[in-house]
Amino acid sequence: MKTYSPSNSHKSSVVCLLCEKHTEALFDEKRKRAYYYCSSCSLYFKDPKAYQSFVKQKERYDLHENNQESEGYRNYFQRFLDFLSLSSLEGVDLALDFGCGRSRLLASMMKEEGVICDSYDPIYAPFEYEKKRYDLIVSTEVFEHLHHPKESFVSLLGALREGGYLAIQTAFHPQTKEAFFSWYYTEDTTHIVFFSIKSFEVLALAYGCKVIRTNGKNMILLQKRGNEEILCP
Ligand SMILES: [Zn+2]
Repeated sequence: MKTYSPSNSHKSSVVCLLCEKHTEALFDEKRKRAYYYCSSCSLYFKDPKAYQSFVKQKERYDLHENNQESEGYRNYFQRFLDFLSLSSLEGVDLALDFGCGRSRLLASMMKEEGVICDSYDPIYAPFEYEKKRYDLIVSTEVFEHLHHPKESFVSLLGALREGGYLAIQTAFHPQTKEAFFSWYYTEDTTHIVFFSIKSFEVLALAYGCKVIRTNGKNMILLQKRGNEEILCP
């Protein structure tokens, strides 16, 4: 039995949050949730009408257990740092952890590897990161929460120096719609945007970056091109 149905047989009037192309409206029959799917950049997103208020989101985030002493939590970030391989990146001295929540663990683990890392979070650690220029911006389990993912991506690129790196962890969605509608990652009510590698490739092409590497599952490393590279790709 199908777990989802197209809301109508035509393209929806909602445009993609990333590439602004037309999307397909879909409905999750089991959980009674509306989604949109963009085939141009392979992005799913929940119906923006269902997005939660700032207060509601904070209530949910306050429940997140971020015990810095926990070995599991350290191992979790270590997997991300292993993927990142800081020593393989050129000229990385100053980094930003975008969407750190209440934790400073990733920043302190990066410091152990010789990289100074600021921590930014719109709720728990706000400051004007846009005014600084970073060599590297990392963002783990944040992009799936973004109400305006394209604008956030552009803002992060603005805070990166030319040739700087952007490393993102967010689970890439399954390939088929059937699998998407039974995917655990959609269960969290604060998860609203679901990316694929293609979504990031489309963003990279549109905004002057290149994909350096991905683990094919939930991590991707991009690099902001220099001005010369943009003029002569
Ligand atoms: Zn799109």
